[in-house]
Amino acid sequence: MKMRLVVLNILSIVIFVFLTIPKLVGQNNDSLSLAKESQHFDFYSSNGDIKILDSLAIILENNYSRITNHLGIQIGKKINVKVYPNIKTFHVAINYPEAPDWVVGSCNGDELMMVSPMNPGSIHTYKSLMQVIVHEFVHVAVSYARGDKGWTAFPRWLSEGYAQYEAGQVNDYIRKSVKSSLIEKAPPTWAQLDSASIVEFGHMNGYGLSVTIVEFLVVTYGIDKLVLLIKETENIEIIYGLTKHALENQWIQYLKQEQIE
Ligand SMILES: [Zn+2]
Repeated sequence: MKMRLVVLNILSIVIFVFLTIPKLVGQNNDSLSLAKESQHFDFYSSNGDIKILDSLAIILENNYSRITNHLGIQIGKKINVKVYPNIKTFHVAINYPEAPDWVVGSCNGDELMMVSPMNPGSIHTYKSLMQVIVHEFVHVAVSYARGDKGWTAFPRWLSEGYAQYEAGQVNDYIRKSVKSSLIEKAPPTWAQLDSASIVEFGHMNGYGLSVTIVEFLVVTYGIDKLVLLIKETENIEIIYGLTKHALENQWIQYLKQEQIE
């Protein structure tokens, strides 16, 4: 039971991204309407959620320039943000009605979708939902940065790790959970993280592991190389001047040596 709680806690930083599910259906049948506009975003919500749109706009706008600057992109249009009143309507909108409660945010094309932070369900909180929306925006920004390459051959650990990194979703709790799991057994390889289904990925602490990989790469080699990796993933060994295997070993050493309070 305790283990299960730990897993749920780890999952609570987790969101779901639509890389594998085909075009959504029914999303135009919801009752959301345009309720707020900010410089780079248009917000659609039900009447009950209008009051939280100012907070969402502030957090997205506060993170917008840093993320687009890191990636070296300009997005020539406004991004739609759809806020669903509860978990149920959100899961129906993403065409995944049986989704677990930790599935609270998504992106579809360049549209962001989320559960209302006022009604976050059993796993998430108002505060974590405020990070989720930034996380989803990072996915959209990365899709601009990759251009025609899209999501093909883009590793899940890099996609989810970078989104969490920019959204500030790494903390000592996650570092500790990853570090203590190393005592029991070797972590999954990056290739294993890549080939897992989204649910398997969640259960193997894929989100926690991924953000530590990205953090390791940024701390050790800098953000510029990471952004290059995002754009030219196939050149990982050229960018870092090391084999993938050597990089993975360095990451494990990084985790082992890390001092966590
Ligand atoms: Zn994600």
